[in-house]
Amino acid sequence: MMSPRIFVAGHRGMVGSAIVRALQAKNAGELILRSRSELDLRDQAAVERFFAHERIDQVYLAAAKVGGIAANNTYPAEFILDNLQIQTNVISAAHRHEVTQLLFLGSSCIYPRLAPQPMREEALLTGLLEPTNEPYAIAKIAGLKLCESINRQYGRTYRSLMPTNLYGPGDNYHPENSHVIPALLRRFHEARLQDRAEVTVWGSGQPRREFLHVDDLARAALHVMGLPDEVWQAQVDPMCSHLNVGTGMDLTIAELAQTIAGIVGYDGTIAFDPSKPDGTPRKLLDVGRLCALGWQSQISLAEGLTEVHQWFVSYESEYRG
Ligand code: GDP
Repeated sequence: MMSPRIFVAGHRGMVGSAIVRALQAKNAGELILRSRSELDLRDQAAVERFFAHERIDQVYLAAAKVGGIAANNTYPAEFILDNLQIQTNVISAAHRHEVTQLLFLGSSCIYPRLAPQPMREEALLTGLLEPTNEPYAIAKIAGLKLCESINRQYGRTYRSLMPTNLYGPGDNYHPENSHVIPALLRRFHEARLQDRAEVTVWGSGQPRREFLHVDDLARAALHVMGLPDEVWQAQVDPMCSHLNVGTGMDLTIAELAQTIAGIVGYDGTIAFDPSKPDGTPRKLLDVGRLCALGWQSQISLAEGLTEVHQWFVSYESEYRG
């Protein structure tokens, strides 16, 4: 059999680069990669030309505009528009050019703000979304429903995974726009170096979040892509065909902050700033369906945070402007 031509969209991002590492480790096929300057995925004509020329067999759609609670709140227009454009262009061009295997990656913020916990796949579209990331969530819901609709109408088996909050090497450490783990790793690290007596954590510290190492997500992505169609179809419903991916465990932001302070070696005071938004009170996924398909997370939060702290220290100079 010829080795498949695999397009990883977004291969320079934290998720895409983890998928590339996992594919390379398995020698899974010929990787087709394009940087943003070579191929702007928001440009429909360019994406169409790319698929017309490249004879792609498999697509991992890891390209997205992503960010933490403040970035989502500050740039809502880009979060909905860029994501709608990227995913619509890639999924529709893949379908037109007979790509049979495609994996779309979404997010646990697709679920209602007050969904029963842990959140099952069926909770989708049962209530109002969290306002701080509603535009991003709407785009991701549209993406998974596009895959689902193509499957229903044309008999394809495009697959969608909805990961919980992710972290890992290659994360964004921007002080305002990043997610909570890189933000706090950097803030506690700098506070230790500068001998500061107090570090401020946004919000009340009470929201609960679940965190998955991106290498665990990459293993899930390859696992799901490799499942025979009948096995996949037996585990999903035609009108609810996305699967959750997470660890099944969560903790409060205050507990996360204490854990990170410990790893970084910061022993000052941890203060909370209630003027900053908390976002969803709790976001814990039910990962039973994916686990029933033979996957489970392997990297504990303590292990993962320790590794990422080492990564941050090695690359720290690149994050200083
Ligand atoms: P969310 O899951 O979409 O809310 O993503 P985030 O990773 O941005 O935030 C998770 C939680 O961590 C929220 O309750 C934030 O208020 C809280 N948080 C505490 N300190 C920070 C920080 O410095 N940066 C970010 N992004 N979030 C923080």
